[in-house]
Amino acid sequence: MRTGQIWQWLYQKGVRDFDAMTNLAKGYRAELAERFVIELPEVVTRQISDDGTRKYLVRIAGGHEVETVYIPEEGRGTLCISSQVGCTLTCSFCHTGTQKLVRNLTAGEIIGQVMLARDDLGEWPEPGHNPHDETRLLSNIVLMGMGEPLYNFESVRDAMKIAMDPEGISLSRRRITLSTSGVVPEIARTATEIGCLLAVSFHGTTDEIRDTLVPINKKWNIETLLEALRAYPKLSNSERITFEYVMLKDVNDSDEDAHRLVQLIKGIPAKINLIPFNEWPGAPYERSSNNRIRAFADIIYKAGYASPIRKPRGEDIMAACGQLKSATERVRKGRAAIAAEAGIAP
Ligand code: SAH
Ligand code: SF4
Repeated sequence: MRTGQIWQWLYQKGVRDFDAMTNLAKGYRAELAERFVIELPEVVTRQISDDGTRKYLVRIAGGHEVETVYIPEEGRGTLCISSQVGCTLTCSFCHTGTQKLVRNLTAGEIIGQVMLARDDLGEWPEPGHNPHDETRLLSNIVLMGMGEPLYNFESVRDAMKIAMDPEGISLSRRRITLSTSGVVPEIARTATEIGCLLAVSFHGTTDEIRDTLVPINKKWNIETLLEALRAYPKLSNSERITFEYVMLKDVNDSDEDAHRLVQLIKGIPAKINLIPFNEWPGAPYERSSNNRIRAFADIIYKAGYASPIRKPRGEDIMAACGQLKSATERVRKGRAAIAAEAGIAP
């Protein structure tokens, strides 16, 4: 019962002081304060885009920094959160992929991003009066920030449990989407241990091209990945897997690619989210033209799949997909130096 009470103060009212938890006995509050601290990652800077997108540069223990992005849309607001500082993977079109992994975020640092966004949005309702998901400013979460969430499975899972718990942030599991580059052995656990929706960074329709774009494909190729997705439980038409597909000029955007894509995913309840490539300094690719993207989308649509084109948001503040990279880690350090500093083995 006490846990439930504390969770409500923390996650539903946004209280940061044990002494303000007035339904707990005074002595008990004092004991809590002696033993625990309530701490959020620190917001170092907040930038607001012309389109209303907010990007937070967030400092976590050890002085490391990650970015969190809030995207307001008609009828909903999505928070894009990070799970790692940097990334072990090196997808060739992704800015984060040029930054080596510094460390995994803790569950507290992951859910802390939700808390600090709610602080900034001024969205702490009375306990027991949680607004419906659809009327919340922060109504959806996507694990699409920095890092590969399935390489930090336990912390991501524990944080999302808090996000979904009725005594926690209380968001429906259908409003949380985890995006993976294709860490095949962890995909089944995503369904059974988290139960959120799944998005997969597909991006290529032959192993040859996917190897160059998403190098994890060398470990688990397209066929292995599709097998895992076919087995993903709880598939229904309302719970389709999202295939993310970045549109790179003359690399993966031909009609043949579109036809191959629909052949490959046959039998999987899916929607294909086309992402116009977002540029970053020194990026080795260009964005496909709007006409090309539309033609590609059309082939997929005619094959019976929804094929929305993702609108780039917050480009002017480098907040769009794949543009995140923390400023202080921008200068590349040696892997060993980074690992030593973070207290993890290289
Ligand atoms: N690491 C996870 C989640 C983070 S990336 C993953 O790879 O799935 C979220 C999405 O943005 C992924 O589909 C990723 O491939 C895509 N992305 C990365 N860089 C991009 C860029 N420069 N332009 C457009 N999309 C990009
Ligand atoms: Fe890492 Fe995802 Fe970027 Fe690939 S696309 S480098 S997995 S963050």
